[in-house]
This record gives sequence, C-alpha cells and structure tokens, in this order.
Amino acid sequence: MSSVLISGASIAGPALAFWLRRHGVDVTVVEKSHTLRGGGYPIDIRGTALDVVERMGLLPRLREAHVDTRRITFLNADGSQAASIRPESLIGGDGSDLEVRRGDLAEILYGTVRDDVEFLFDNTIVSMSEHSGGVDVTFRSGLERTYDHVIGADGLHSAVRALTFGPEEQFHRYLGYCFAGFTLPNHLGLQQEALLWNEPGRAAALYAVGSTENVHGFLSFTREEAPFGAFRDPQAQRDLVASVFADDGWELPHLVKAMQASDDLFFDTVSQIRMPRWSSGRVALVGDAAYAPSFLTGQGSSLALVGAYVLAGNMSDFGAYERTIRPFVEANQNLVDVGDAELFPGTAESLAARNANLRSRETMPAPASRPEHSAMTLPDFELLSP
Ligand SMILES: Cc1cc2nc3c(=O)[nH]c(=O)nc-3n(C[C@H](O)[C@H](O)[C@H](O)COP(=O)(O)OP(=O)(O)OC[C@H]3O[C@@H](n4cnc5c(N)ncnc54)[C@H](O)[C@@H]3O)c2cc1C
Repeated sequence: MSSVLISGASIAGPALAFWLRRHGVDVTVVEKSHTLRGGGYPIDIRGTALDVVERMGLLPRLREAHVDTRRITFLNADGSQAASIRPESLIGGDGSDLEVRRGDLAEILYGTVRDDVEFLFDNTIVSMSEHSGGVDVTFRSGLERTYDHVIGADGLHSAVRALTFGPEEQFHRYLGYCFAGFTLPNHLGLQQEALLWNEPGRAAALYAVGSTENVHGFLSFTREEAPFGAFRDPQAQRDLVASVFADDGWELPHLVKAMQASDDLFFDTVSQIRMPRWSSGRVALVGDAAYAPSFLTGQGSSLALVGAYVLAGNMSDFGAYERTIRPFVEANQNLVDVGDAELFPGTAESLAARNANLRSRETMPAPASRPEHSAMTLPDFELLSP
C-alpha cells in the first residue's frame, strides 16, 4: 500500500485524506495546531465543489450545518443604511450554495477519516529529503519517517511550499488590502445577517452566524505595500489596525477596542498564491497552499475540495492533476484583481457608485451564478467501496 503524508488538517487536508483512502492509500496527516480548530467564519461551497461533497455523501450533514445568512446590510460612514440585499444578490445563484463555518466543514471532513487515518496534532514537518525510494521526513517532535509522497495542504503560508519551492514572496500576489478578524460579543443583537460599513479605503463588518452570543468582526483597509514586518509582531498588527480606524464613527471605537482586547485576532493580507507548478518530484500542493484565490472570490474552500478530489485520483501523475484543474483554478482566481474589490471601494466616487448599484439590486431577482464556479466537470476515478 502506498503511503502519503499530508501537512494541514483544515479543508484540503482531510478532504484529500478521504479520497486517498478510497484509492487504497495509507494516510498520515500532520497539523500544527493542538486540535482541529472548530467554528470560525462562514465559507461557501458552491458549483463544482457541491458535486465533490455530494460524492462524499456529505450533503445532508452540510445542509444541517448551513448558516443561511438572510441579509447583508451596507452602511454609510455615519451608520445609516446604504443598501440591504440578500447574499445571492451579491454573489449570484439560486440560493442552493452551502454556507458553513470553516471549522464545521473541517470537523465534518475530519469525522469521515478519523478512524482510518493517523493524525499527528501539535507537530509539523521540519525537513524533507527526497530519494528514489520516497521522502524522508523529520518532524518537530523528532519523529522520522519515510513516505511515498508528501502533500502540502497547509494554507496560504504553507511550510511544505517553502521547503520545496522556496520563499513565499515569489508566489504571493498581494491584492492591496489587509484585514483583521476577531470575535466579539453580539451587542447589536444581530441574527443570521452581516453589516458592512464603508469609508473609502476602509471597511468594517459584523457577521452573525445564526443568533449566537458572539459575532465575527472584520476590519479591512487598503494599503499599497503589504505590511510584511507586522507579521512577526502581534502588537504591531493591533497598532496598525487601530491607527487606520482611529478617527472613524459608527461602532468603530467599540470594534477597535474589541479587536485590541481579543484573544483570537487573525491578521493577514488579502492575497493570492499563483505558481507555475504545484508539484515537484514526490511533493505536491493542494488548496490555499497551491492556489489561494483570496476570500474576495469566496472560492477558496471550493477550490480546496475540488483540488483534493482531483489530486487523489492522480497521485501517480501530478502533471495530470495540474492540467485537469488549472483552467478552473485560474478562472476563479481571475474573479478578482488588485484593488477592485466590490466590498472595499477605494474612493468616494467608487463607493457612491457601488452603493447605487447595490440599491438597484435590492428589488431585482438575484443574478445567475457565476459560470466560473461550475467551470469544471469532475473526472470519474475507480474507487474502493466506502
Ligand atoms: C476571513 C475569511 C473569509 C473567507 N471566506 C471564504 C468564503 O466565503 N468562501 C470560501 O470558499 N473561502 C473563504 N475563505 C477562504 C477559505 O477559508 C480557505 O480558502 C480554505 O480554508 C482553504 O483551505 P485549506 O485547507 O487549503 O487551507 P487552510 O484552511 O488555511 O488550512 C491550512 C491548515 O494547515 C495548518 N498548518 C499551517 N501550517 C502548518 C504547518 N507548518 N504544519 C502543519 N500544519 C500547518 C493550519 O493550522 C490549518 O489547519 C475565507 C478565508 C478567510 C480568512
């Protein structure tokens, strides 16, 4: 039986583990966190990725976990309403997309393989050495093992990518925005809805997943150069975000305070990963590690799910994996460009035009779903019975 080590236990990792088991492969997953991280912000599963989760038999469970956001309300600088629309009016589609918390999806995927796959939590790969018989791997814990293949499913800042292809900067396409995510008490009593406040170049969002005690807060802003220096310094991240929103009204003073006090602050650039190749020898990448499209596309989890399915069927031919999904990946990455996010207009004129456009959509039926979301038909592979 061939053996595969996967780095990362979020979406791409456990989904790949599932399909590799169905191809008769022995799988180990290494995850740097102590446990699987549950809950979190909502992500979408749509288009071709819906076919993947249907083939996994997960549609009923995912429908149960569906968040069903009812409205997105856009606010002016003073908190007055600029527009209020249903999510489909923004993204397109007939409402059949699934929206689940990232951590709920990760837990559901993990549940399908936890009994058949070895999970090494609180650990990571520190070195890899490839030879004709496999890849020798040393883990941070000191454990040493040899695998036939190693797959990086370890996200935007993938360690497997850095070990195999070199520094991230070569592949990192900064889209011109930074964001901070954190949780805070639901003091406005929001239910199944999101509020998005805008000033030119700055945005704040509150996202209520269901009618829970806490909401997800996001503070996002345009910035010409990516603040790479702040990545090593959490206090510098808090100071940077606080300084950007220092003079703003509405709930911003409260949000900045909550951001500064939060113990789950997540700060990053809004970026894509674009690489000419996603494999080298016995190592390959999948999901955000290979082709993060950025959350502005809303397609990261869907690409991860589709990529995992296709990679599992092509473990003996990584070239076929790349050829099969590259057009789908690129079509979805091209949904956004530098500085053109509808959610974060950069000037007063573009913000006014965006709001006028949103108001016109308040009463119109939702547009058809984007063809890019379904721009691939899944290949069929011979699989072992579940
Ligand atoms: C705020 C926000 C909103 C988003 N909204 C959407 C949306 O609406 N729709 C959508 O489809 N996508 C959305 N996304 C993107 C989506 O979350 C990602 O595209 C998706 O999670 C990618 O899955 P992944 O498994 O490839 O990587 P990740 O989810 O990033 O998981 C990587 C895993 O690898 C682990 N890891 C990292 N480094 C190491 C290491 N050195 N060793 C071992 N393990 C490691 C991490 O702990 C993590 O578990 C959003 C993202 C953000 C941040």
